[in-house]
Formats: sequence, structure tokens, C-alpha cells
Amino acid sequence: MSVIKSVIDKVKQTDPDQKEFHQAVVEVMETLEPTCQRHPEFVKANIYERIVEPERSIMFRVPWADDKNQVHVNRGFRVQFNNAIGPFKGGIRFHPSVNLSIIKFLGFEQTFKNSLTTLPMGGGKGGSDFDPKGKSDGEIMRFCQAFMRELYRHIGAETDVPAGDIGVGGREIGYMFGYYKKIRNEHTGVLTGKALEYGGSLIRPEATGYGAVYFAAEMLATRGLDFKGKRVAVSGSGNVAQYAIEKVNQMGGQVISICDSNSTIIDEKGIDNDKCCYLMELKNVHRGRVSEYADKYQTVCVEGKNVWDVIREQGIKVDIALPCATQNELDAANAQALVKNGCFCVAEGANMPSTPEAVRIFQDNNLLYGPGKAANAGGVATSGLEMSQNSLKLSWTREEVDGRLLIIMKSIHKSCLDAAEAYGKKGDYVMGANIAGFVKVARAMLAFGVV
Ligand code: NAP
Repeated sequence: MSVIKSVIDKVKQTDPDQKEFHQAVVEVMETLEPTCQRHPEFVKANIYERIVEPERSIMFRVPWADDKNQVHVNRGFRVQFNNAIGPFKGGIRFHPSVNLSIIKFLGFEQTFKNSLTTLPMGGGKGGSDFDPKGKSDGEIMRFCQAFMRELYRHIGAETDVPAGDIGVGGREIGYMFGYYKKIRNEHTGVLTGKALEYGGSLIRPEATGYGAVYFAAEMLATRGLDFKGKRVAVSGSGNVAQYAIEKVNQMGGQVISICDSNSTIIDEKGIDNDKCCYLMELKNVHRGRVSEYADKYQTVCVEGKNVWDVIREQGIKVDIALPCATQNELDAANAQALVKNGCFCVAEGANMPSTPEAVRIFQDNNLLYGPGKAANAGGVATSGLEMSQNSLKLSWTREEVDGRLLIIMKSIHKSCLDAAEAYGKKGDYVMGANIAGFVKVARAMLAFGVV
């Protein structure tokens, strides 16, 4: 039996109920097969089996009191996946769907993504099954403090540096950083995604969305194409989606969709800059729903369906797709419909938004397909730049950080293409991203011996 197959089998046997984690492991491992022949030293040191096992997984109780003084308990997680090339690094997600399988899949992906960024960051991820929707500011603050009351033992600027993810934005990072600072009596770069006043970086809020569009632009350029005049479908309406829309507008494209977990908006006239500002205010300040966008601009609003379902059902023409909501939002039927409706480029702002069957359809139809671990790496890359600024005790200008982000996204794009070509699959960004990310981490693990 091949090394890869036996590793996949073992992962499935050891944790049979962790389906998202299995999905991520299979997706990465299957593309690593050629590295076994080229690097027998990795096989000999059993790197493949070691790399799918997190360094440690921490699960903890998070008790907190609501505004009526009623006590609730949620479960907290931090999975420190791999610190071979730098401190553990990866976001915190607050969403009712969070469980160990989801956090492990995200931490595993993060290891390869962080390796691709060119910066010295290992992989980790954390979160809680807490649902921030409908909670008051006071409740969010008390939950964040309760979460940090345990997490602080496991993190540190040189150990593990969390950031935001779904349900965790600037407000939550502020509460968590403030509490860490209070109980540790230290002001260090222990979290990224901080506000500017206390150590944040310019461009960090924009970075994931901007980065995904920069990556898509690089892919398009390989075929002599660009965003000008293209119809772009975006899903989600949170941090990544908002700044992807802003950057598409700057590059001359027209975004026609957004969604949240309740409904999808199709705006045939395009979500221009003014509408994008309204969306940011609606989601980030008023914590509203996208259906209010439809009320204001008199657009189509379909309840209970995501962007990809609506595009499929209504046969909407799309040139470029940017899934920016959540894992497995885009399935095979949706992928088939995108191909049929003329889509030629998919860049993933979210983590693992396309199911494995959808990915196969994109690749079989020769679409430019940029997987999340490459296309959305701009967020963590800019978190890495925030860490650099914190260490230097300096702040770089907007132009400087954006310039570095663009260079990093171009470099990730080139690494993917170079690795894919070197291993005989020219133009395959999935294989390229996985191999380029893996080889660096594997070499570092090899250097350390058996630890
Ligand atoms: P966010 O600000 O919380 O926004 C998430 C958006 O997706 C919200 O509009 C949410 O709607 C929507 N959504 C969630 N689940 C959905 C579902 N099942 N169906 C339809 N819509 C759904 O989070 P984010 O930071 O933008 O993250 C989005 C994705 O990007 C995630 O996969 C995350 O892991 C990935 N990512 C984020 C970063 C970053 O820097 N933030 C970096 C790399 C990757 P509701 O408002 O209804 O919940």
C-alpha cells in the first residue's frame, strides 16, 4: 500500500467522525504522492504520518453570564497544528457549527498556507461553538474574556498568535487582547487583527479580500485576461467578501451577488463603491442582515439559499466566482452550473468552500481555479506583517503594507505554478500549492530529527 494511502486510512480510522478533517487531509495528501518518489528521506522519517497529527489539541470549558445573569457554557478549542517553520498562527472562529473536526481541518490547511506566504509562521486554529448573532456588546465582551481566561495559558507572541475568522472581527480581537494584556500585564503582539491604536497594521482588515483578488488577477493574466468589465459573483458579506468587492470595483469588475446565512442578493446593476460602503456599515456597525440591502436598493433577495444555488437555479451568467463565506458552500451541481454559465475563473476567499467534486469539475473544464490555501493567504500574510511591525515597534504606511501584500500574492502564485510544473502538472494550482507548502515544512521537520 502506498504511504499516502496508509496515512489517509489511519486518519479515518483514528478519528472516524471528523469528516471535514478527512476531507482536508485527502485533498492535500493525494496531491503529495509524487513527493514520495522525489524525497525518499521524507518517507524514511515518516513525515507524512507526522504532519497530519497536530502538535496538541486543547479543548476547554467557557462559562459566561448573559445580560440577565443567566450562566451559559460553551466549548473552546485551540489546535496547535505545526510549528516547524515559526510560532503557531491562525484565526479564531465563533460559530455554532464549530467542533474539533472543523478546527483541525482549518489548522491543517493553515500549516501549508502559512508556509506559502514566505513568512516564518506555523499553523494553528481555534474557536468556539458560541453564536455571536443576536448577542449584546456586553455579552460578546464577557464571552471573549471568558474564552481568553483559559486561552492565555497556551498562546504568546513567540508561541502561538491567534487572529480573527468567522464571527471574530476587530471588536472581538479588542476584547480578547484587552483581557490578555490585563491578566498577563504585558503588551505584546500576541494577537493580530488589532486596531491601529494598539498595535494593528494598516491593510490587515482588507488583506484577505484584496489578496484573493490579487491572486485571481495573477491567474487571469496567465491567459491575457483581467477584471475589466467582468461579472463577478461573491458569496458571503463579511470581512473577506466586503474587501473582495472593494478591490474588484477598483480593478474595473462588477460584483453582482452577496449572501449571509439567511438570504442571497442578486444586484444586476452591480455593487458599486457606495453600495459597498453601505454594506460595510450594515454588517460591521449595525450588525444587520443582507435582506436590508435588498430593501434599500430594490434588488432580488432569495431567502434560504446561498449565492451558488441561486446562480444555478436562475441560470445567471458569471465570469469570475469568489466564494467568500464558508466551507463546502459550493457543490458539484453548482460548479457544473457555473461552467455552463460561462465562468472561467474561481478564486477561493473562504477556506475549502468548494466540495472535492466541485473542484474536479473546475479542473476538468480547464477553469483557472485558485484553492483557498493560496488565494486567501493574504490575510495571514498581512498578520505576519503585523507581527513584524510589533517586533520592530514600528508602523508601516498603507502603501508599504499593500505593496508587500501584492508582492506576497504574486510570489504565492509563482510558487504554485513552479511547483506544479516541476512535478509534471503544469497549471494545476491545487497540486502546486500543496507541494510548495508541504516541502518547506517537511524539510524543517526533517532538520529537527524525531521530536
Ligand atoms: P465573517 O466576517 O464572519 O463573514 C462570514 C460571512 O459568511 C457572513 O456573511 C456569514 O453570514 C456568511 N456565512 C457563514 N456561513 C454561511 C452559510 N452556511 N451560508 C451562507 N453564508 C454563510 O467571516 P470572514 O472573516 O469573512 O470569513 C469568511 C471565510 O473566509 C471563512 O471561510 C474564513 O475561514 C475565511 N478566511 C478568513 C480570513 C480573514 O482574514 N478573516 C482569512 C482567510 C480565510 P452570517 O452573517 O449570516 O453569519
